[in-house]
Amino acid sequence: MRAVRLSGTAPELAVRKLLHSGGYRFRVQRRDLPGTPDIVLPRYKTAIFVHGCFWHRHENCSKATTPKTRISFWKKKFDRNIQRDRSNASALSAAGWFVLTVWECEIREPEDLLARLSKLLK
Ligand SMILES: [Zn+2]
Repeated sequence: MRAVRLSGTAPELAVRKLLHSGGYRFRVQRRDLPGTPDIVLPRYKTAIFVHGCFWHRHENCSKATTPKTRISFWKKKFDRNIQRDRSNASALSAAGWFVLTVWECEIREPEDLLARLSKLLK
């Protein structure tokens, strides 16, 4: 369940700013694509999802904690998110898109993140 957002979340804005500083041209929130990718780089045929570590279960990340109560409720919720992420990614790749995930925690090291992205965007 996503509310309508006009401007994007803070992590999304940070990634956009970073890409912009790297000279990349992009579009945001392409609703006609599976999962409405947060950022789309048409020239690279690349869709980027900026994921919160907690909700999207970033593996081995300290931010992806599991609440101690209502464990099965959370597990179901997390499983659903993971499933949805997977099916969006496979629908996009089937349509010829390259799919990248940027994790919220990566934004803390913007230079490393930009280096990673520019390596992938070719
Ligand atoms: Zn993380």
